Amino acid sequence: MNDFEKLAELLFPDVHKTVEQLEEQFPPRALKEGARVTRFAPSPTGFLHIGGLFAALISKLNAQTTDGVFILRIEDTDKKREIEDGVSEIIKGLNAFGVTVDEGVVGFNQEKGDYGPYQQSHRAGIYHVVVKKLVTEGLAYPCFCTEEELSALREKQEEEGTAIKGYFGKWAKCRDLTFDEQKALIESGKPYTLRLRSPGREDGKIKFDDLIKGKIEIAENIQDVVLLKTDGIPTYHFAHAVDDHFMRTTHVIRGDEWISSVPLHIQLFKACGFRVPKYAHISPIMKEENGGKRKLSKRKDPEAAVTYYAEQGYPKESVIDYLLTLANSNFEDWRRANPKAPQSEFPFNLKKMSVSGALFDLTKLNDVSKNVISVMTAEQVLSYALSWAKDFDSELYELLSRDTEYAKAIFSVDRDTPKPRKDIAKFNEIRAYIAYYFDELYQNNYSEMPENITADMAKEILSAYIGRYKPDDSKDEWFAGIKDLCEPLGYTPNVKEYKKNPDLYKGHVGDVSTVIRIAVTGRRNTPDLYSIMQILGEDKVKARMKTALAFYKA
Ligand code: GLU
Repeated sequence: MNDFEKLAELLFPDVHKTVEQLEEQFPPRALKEGARVTRFAPSPTGFLHIGGLFAALISKLNAQTTDGVFILRIEDTDKKREIEDGVSEIIKGLNAFGVTVDEGVVGFNQEKGDYGPYQQSHRAGIYHVVVKKLVTEGLAYPCFCTEEELSALREKQEEEGTAIKGYFGKWAKCRDLTFDEQKALIESGKPYTLRLRSPGREDGKIKFDDLIKGKIEIAENIQDVVLLKTDGIPTYHFAHAVDDHFMRTTHVIRGDEWISSVPLHIQLFKACGFRVPKYAHISPIMKEENGGKRKLSKRKDPEAAVTYYAEQGYPKESVIDYLLTLANSNFEDWRRANPKAPQSEFPFNLKKMSVSGALFDLTKLNDVSKNVISVMTAEQVLSYALSWAKDFDSELYELLSRDTEYAKAIFSVDRDTPKPRKDIAKFNEIRAYIAYYFDELYQNNYSEMPENITADMAKEILSAYIGRYKPDDSKDEWFAGIKDLCEPLGYTPNVKEYKKNPDLYKGHVGDVSTVIRIAVTGRRNTPDLYSIMQILGEDKVKARMKTALAFYKA
């Protein structure tokens, strides 16, 4: 045994498995040529950022469009940052938007797939096998430096003004301890970390081809980074390389804040004898502020958390459609041509992603969402409305579920037509939008009346219409009835005629229907009034007209 081998045995006497055995246990996947294995690898900090959902979506689409595999791996090596329920928050967040995984962590202590465990805190045994091999090859060594010594090192480097700071080269004091020195320190019980013996050179450069950002050249890593902490838990950098290798990840897709770590990551993959995956680094989602751009922030922007969208009542399809418009600029054209197609049919292309950060715009999200909701069936709208109201508006939930046929009829108005209305962007708008269908929510709003219509005119119109209103009229009969009122009261049924000779009339048929509309719904603008009156039914329509009439008479 050489000294490295002796050191490895001293450090890991109980690790008998070999990297070769791990290779057999987690063999290359039998997937078709070109299939991509991607993963979303968050830390369970209890918060799914919209940027995280975006990265997860892009990873999923890459796997899906190539018949590959999309994995959820939980990176919980940093116990200080972890919060209770952090894992379930992430899973709930992804599921809520339909970004479901093929493999990985799927619930509390629940996993699926043959390449697990998928939670780093459950993989210590695997990391130790790999680290033992690195020690055997002289690529990792124990470092006994205390926090104090490391701070003193940093201070010294500050004083000397060294260009590069950290634990490397001549500064890496434990790098060249002899085996006997190492053995004595280990046996004395001194705590130690395990560090990489970085093969990097100070003037060295690494090049890689990022699938989004293009060719990138950065300085090589020269730091002897920590691989295992004193408690034997790996650092994220080391753990992720081992995981991506043994989960057979082909494409690492993640936020571009990780670009600066790529030199270290590539070095780790190579040191371990692993094939380096392909990289695609996504630019962060930005927000416009005071003419400038900044990252969406967890502290300042409520819309940074994915829970915001559920609370507001955006359907998951809207959020995903919107994220797809940010991802590929041709998505909107595709969506226009295929308004009802499932998102999975969109030919997503990683190469078409923007190199600089996409701008997040809630107004645009609302427009996308209005389109999405406008092509839903009434049943779908009702089911979304019910599930949103159940969590966020119990009175509305009560009203909608009291008579679901009635509720469905409401959402059917002006739907399923070549040009459906695009009124609703999110379900927290529903209460106001449909208020007039329910006496409990209805508010008369007679002051909505256009200025050209006086209370006397409204009174005349309503008095005449109450006698004429027949609940069983067809739409044509109903409209003819309104037109019939016009001439005797001094209005014209013909809008063009009114525009030609405004002085000859009090108004036109539009004004007459506005009076009726306001009396019945309390609104000046609504979807098709005939349908609304049909749904409300004779009693409600008559009662509302009578109340309005009494108001104008007073
Ligand atoms: N755990 C890292 C994070 O929280 C993952 C980085 C990666 O995808 O490699 O973002």
